Amino acid sequence: MIVVMKIGTPEAEVARLNEEFRTWGLTPEKIVGKHKTVLGLVGDTVDLDPLQLQDLSPWVEQVLRVEKPFKRVSRTFRQGEASEVMVATPDGPVTFSETSPVVVVAGPCSVEDESMIIETALRVKAAGAQFLRGGAYKPRTSPYAFQGHGESALDLLVAAREASGLGIITEVMDTADLDRISAIADVVQVGARNMQNFSLLKKVGSQDKPVLLKRGMSATIEEWLMAAEYILAAGNSNVILCERGIRTFDRQYARNTLDLSVIPVLRALTHLPIMIDPSHGTGKAEYVPSMAMAAIAAGTDSLMIEVHPNPAKALSDGPQSLTPERFDRLMREELPPIGQAVGRWK
Ligand code: PEP
Ligand code: MN
Repeated sequence: MIVVMKIGTPEAEVARLNEEFRTWGLTPEKIVGKHKTVLGLVGDTVDLDPLQLQDLSPWVEQVLRVEKPFKRVSRTFRQGEASEVMVATPDGPVTFSETSPVVVVAGPCSVEDESMIIETALRVKAAGAQFLRGGAYKPRTSPYAFQGHGESALDLLVAAREASGLGIITEVMDTADLDRISAIADVVQVGARNMQNFSLLKKVGSQDKPVLLKRGMSATIEEWLMAAEYILAAGNSNVILCERGIRTFDRQYARNTLDLSVIPVLRALTHLPIMIDPSHGTGKAEYVPSMAMAAIAAGTDSLMIEVHPNPAKALSDGPQSLTPERFDRLMREELPPIGQAVGRWK
């Protein structure tokens, strides 16, 4: 349930209502929007009568029921206003939001060695990316496949950030590694396979770094939003939702089905920023540019693209990785006209 306060409501009145709601066993969350203050009430509100809440104060403008099972992530909870996830990078703050230019995240699937990660960072930076991605801990289907270099790869990501000025995004697979990862990452990624690892979600929700939450490979939109709800409920509202392709009946020609239709759906349901990953979404480098362009046209707030200096030799996800040259062409020639057409390119 959300309680919309009138413009100019005194702070003391908001505090009084908060206290009142707490005595009812509810957890009020104060959301200060551009124009109005809203109190989101989390807890058992099924038996509450909106009129009863309306009568609590002459400063209450409106009381609305949030019908969906997700509350904090719902668009209604913020009175329709988009949230902004602002990330500090060495080159300055970068904002993920519906009202900001498209943010581009690029880099290899895995951090392989120092020279490749620094070379990739410098190349994607020169092409216009704002973040470097790269896995230190890799979720692999086969236990015999390369599992990532772990802790030592985190040091290489720090070196790449120093060399390039890019922000760093890397995946956490296990709660045991979270402190180490969040100490160095600018954004912590929860991968598709862990989207419903609820203990991990609670843990990333109780640390301060923004979280990139990938959609599970067979997750419904509601399951995905409920996963995000765990992170917000644990105290971290800086969450970015990343669509990375879902599993459908045809896997012969593409690794996954990139669900671009999720963009307008999420826009209507949630205030959280959206990222599209056409690399895992298609699994083939040749399909990545057109899906990246389409994602911008459809209104994504950011893109994640795998780039490797030598895809044929990559230790993971080589077939879907762009070369730095191909990425450069995408960034200079193909994405800007679309981004400019929708007013989202800087
Ligand atoms: C990745 O980003 O390298 C990755 C493993 O992604 P996903 O969780 O989407 O498969
Ligand atoms: Mn990958």
